[in-house]
Amino acid sequence: MRYSRMLIPTTKEVPSDAEITSHQLMIRAGLIRKVASGTYTYLPLGWRSLLKIIGIVREEINKAGAQEILVPSMQPLELWQKTGRSVDYGPTIFRLDDRHGKGNVLSPTAEEVVTYLAAGEIKSYKQLPINLYQISTKFRDEFRPRFGPIRSREFIMKDAYSFDTDPAGLDKSYKAMYDAYCRIFKRCGLDYVIVEAEVGEMGGSGSHQFTVPCESGEDTIVYTENDSYAANLERADVDPLPKEKTASKIPPMKEVHTPNIGSIEAVCAFLQTQPKDMIKTLIFSTRDGTIAALVRGDHELNTEKLTQILGGEHIELADEPMIEKVTGAKVGFAGPMRIAEKVSKMIIDYAVTAMAIGVTGANKTDYHIKNVVPGRDFPLEGDNIIVADIRLAVEGDTYNGKRLLFKKGIEVGQVFKLGTKYSVKLGAKFLDETGTEKPCLMGCYGIGINRIMASAIELGNDENGILWPISISPFEVIVTCVNHEDPDVAQTAENIYQKLLDKGIDVLLDDRPVRGGIKFKDADLIGIPVRVTVGQKSLAEGKVEIKLRSESKSQKISLEEAPDKVIELVDLLKEKLKA
Ligand code: ATP
Ligand code: MG
Repeated sequence: MRYSRMLIPTTKEVPSDAEITSHQLMIRAGLIRKVASGTYTYLPLGWRSLLKIIGIVREEINKAGAQEILVPSMQPLELWQKTGRSVDYGPTIFRLDDRHGKGNVLSPTAEEVVTYLAAGEIKSYKQLPINLYQISTKFRDEFRPRFGPIRSREFIMKDAYSFDTDPAGLDKSYKAMYDAYCRIFKRCGLDYVIVEAEVGEMGGSGSHQFTVPCESGEDTIVYTENDSYAANLERADVDPLPKEKTASKIPPMKEVHTPNIGSIEAVCAFLQTQPKDMIKTLIFSTRDGTIAALVRGDHELNTEKLTQILGGEHIELADEPMIEKVTGAKVGFAGPMRIAEKVSKMIIDYAVTAMAIGVTGANKTDYHIKNVVPGRDFPLEGDNIIVADIRLAVEGDTYNGKRLLFKKGIEVGQVFKLGTKYSVKLGAKFLDETGTEKPCLMGCYGIGINRIMASAIELGNDENGILWPISISPFEVIVTCVNHEDPDVAQTAENIYQKLLDKGIDVLLDDRPVRGGIKFKDADLIGIPVRVTVGQKSLAEGKVEIKLRSESKSQKISLEEAPDKVIELVDLLKEKLKA
């Protein structure tokens, strides 16, 4: 390709909503342009990179034995109603009615449609195992699209779906995808960690996330020193806290007037106490009732853990009228006293049971209660009472006795063991050897193509621009023609360009009639890993300069040797990314 003919609108301007480096660089290097909140046009350089990522993903997923298909992005709402996800997925789903009033969903993922396909086509165990995947556009009405392609409302995902006859088969299919993911991220040049993850809305029995550690990540990885444990924050287990020492005599409960003071901070300031000495009572609604969840005032409830304890049931924070009905008080004054009788379940976090004494809401508007003793003043056991780990891990927590550490990361992929959740609801069944009908055991496996590109830039950059892993760089080599007005120079650059093209190198020739300084700046900004510079000075010695984007020094190589040297460097860079 010739730079002069390409649309590569590099710019110094960065809009204020581009908060993180990768987003800024994608705009500055002319890879993307925003169309609307969370939607982007990928320009030639950006699209070239995405195509290379797609190529790697496709190769590895094919190698793992999966077959590529394509399902529609616009899917009947009816299918989503069958699995309950039209509700459970919440406002993140884009919906549209067609002219006949039929509801549709713009696919945020495709379990429903692929399971529907399997329900129609799979009859016998002889057809299993099977893994079907697609690489296609997904839509999510993200509450807060940000960080450019990392959290956008329209993006490209590789999503695979495996169907097996038994748990051992599912384990094998899962492992094949897990291993393929390791190869994919290695080949894309990403440093990643694998963490245990919650299954969330997907349902199912187990999951891993592939996460790229970096400061701008929205996910939190929780791990222990020697990497013996790594989980995402929603999944991370914590050891129960030691029981607080009890004063020899704790006075009885005391009601205090706290007019209009409902928040933890306000109550603490008013009563001269600390969040860790308070008990938060949260009311949730579920399909068949209400749940009360108790956590310490300084802890945050982990809704994922709560969901799992309730057997994957969909939960939502109760609305004001519901809270008032359950507690008999305005929002902000809920407490654990006599609440177990009014809800279908009360779930108490371990840390609350370890408290010696606490402050809670009084279930009476404008009142709190002091000197509350768990176990004395509200029950810790009973028919509908469960004590469990339902909070987020915090600094200072341990797991298996080891201190938990925290770092930020970007989730680039996730694998799930789904089990039979979707196959039962959508009738994806097979006949086994004995002629018995059974639901397929499913797994699902997603990779964010655009996020891979963004993460690679987030990891690979310096003050001058992008540093691409060669495997996903828009071009492998750039030939920079410095004194384009000199016919010798121009011809030499052209010759090298042609030779490299003939050898199958993905090369860009910067033939623009602009100053050398501008060409060098742009080459650094767009980050092509290998640069060949053809200029009057070195050409007078019969040489050209070869430079890696990642290094500051260049080397002079004779004209004859130059193409081979470039190929050698490209091979070397590729070798490092071999899976
Ligand atoms: P997140 O927790 O970041 O919202 P998710 O867990 O909901 O993501 P999955 O349903 O696991 O995402 O989707 C599979 C992959 O698709 C993710 O690992 C991620 O790489 C990508 N992805 C998900 N949401 C987005 C988005 N809004 N923009 C770009 N890529 C996304
Ligand atoms: Mg995920």
